[in-house]
Amino acid sequence: MPEEAARKRLFENMFICMKCKAKRRAKPRKVRQGKVKCRKCGSKDLRLKSKEDRS
Ligand SMILES: [Zn+2]
Repeated sequence: MPEEAARKRLFENMFICMKCKAKRRAKPRKVRQGKVKCRKCGSKDLRLKSKEDRS
């Protein structure tokens, strides 16, 4: 299904800031290493967007 693939691409490597809920695209490995910060508030507390999408 093309729709599934598009959705996966959209949520892949997409992170949400735990503080201000800003979206941020980054490599998961870099996030785990603490190299990626929220652009808005500078927090390193990011979670993967795709996890929220699972229902
Ligand atoms: Zn933030």
